[in-house]
Amino acid sequence: MANETMPGLDMSPYTVAGPTERRRLRTVAGLIIVVPFLATILAIYLAFTQGIGWMEIGIFLTGYLLTVMGLTVGFHRHFAHRSFDTSPAMRMVLGALGSMAGQGPIIWWVATHRRHHRLSDQEGDPHSPQLVEGSGLWRVIKGFWQGHIAWMFSDRISNWGMFARDMMNDRQVFRIHQLYFPFFFLGLLLPTVAGGLIAGSWQGAFLGFLWGGLVRICVVDHVLWCVGSICHMVGLRPYVHRTRDHSTNNLLVALVGCGEGLQNNHHAFPRDAFHGFRWYEPDLGALVIRMLKAVGLVWNVVETPEDKRKAALGDDRAVA
Ligand SMILES: [Zn+2]
Ligand SMILES: [Zn+2]
Repeated sequence: MANETMPGLDMSPYTVAGPTERRRLRTVAGLIIVVPFLATILAIYLAFTQGIGWMEIGIFLTGYLLTVMGLTVGFHRHFAHRSFDTSPAMRMVLGALGSMAGQGPIIWWVATHRRHHRLSDQEGDPHSPQLVEGSGLWRVIKGFWQGHIAWMFSDRISNWGMFARDMMNDRQVFRIHQLYFPFFFLGLLLPTVAGGLIAGSWQGAFLGFLWGGLVRICVVDHVLWCVGSICHMVGLRPYVHRTRDHSTNNLLVALVGCGEGLQNNHHAFPRDAFHGFRWYEPDLGALVIRMLKAVGLVWNVVETPEDKRKAALGDDRAVA
């Protein structure tokens, strides 16, 4: 991939222009935004007209929790931030579950996310809602749209050589990256088979596919996209002196997103495996990491000492 730059849009070395790659990524992004969304409208219509059973709810929740864990514990905390170490088998499971969410192949995801940390809410941040023109409510709406959806159609992609060289040199990660589409489709196949077996019918298989596959992808992705949009707009900023950006702790997004959404904590201490620092900050991902550590499945878990967290609260001197 050439590290060429476009006239008037020189953000090198953070991004590269890859027209062919971009066209492909835009098509995939368009499909992942539109198809699950339409399927969700159909699912809601069917639920209102024909009812919804415990099987659909169970398959949806199971798929939701597993794939959000693949993203927050796997893609985000383990692969992007190296917050803990684990075995090759666990890495494969986390990589597969994260891929099933349909948020893009792992190296692309990690490079994009690390660029977000490097340039948080500054020019070059891949999905900041703060870099739009205008004022008042219109600026808020434009910012939300940019941080949530529109950023995926940008002309630039993150420079993998700068942000994800370690990922590219890691044979297992590269394998997970190559297996993105097989894993993604496995994420559609498994709930379909589960629905068919539980209900013993083709209708059950269809409902499993609908709720555990497409509706689950729609909800998982919108919740996680809220981390880039809403969680850089609305919420608490206890560490603003340290982060110097617009990242917030949004408790609602954190609750639904299993700990994602505590962006201000996370931007202040990016390597910390735990995003919830206080009792009222929900972080199911942290609970899962603690449980995995207790049974010896993960180790070398990074946790910021309490005095360091306290020192960073509203103290400019802590920025250094
Ligand atoms: Zn952020
Ligand atoms: Zn992060």
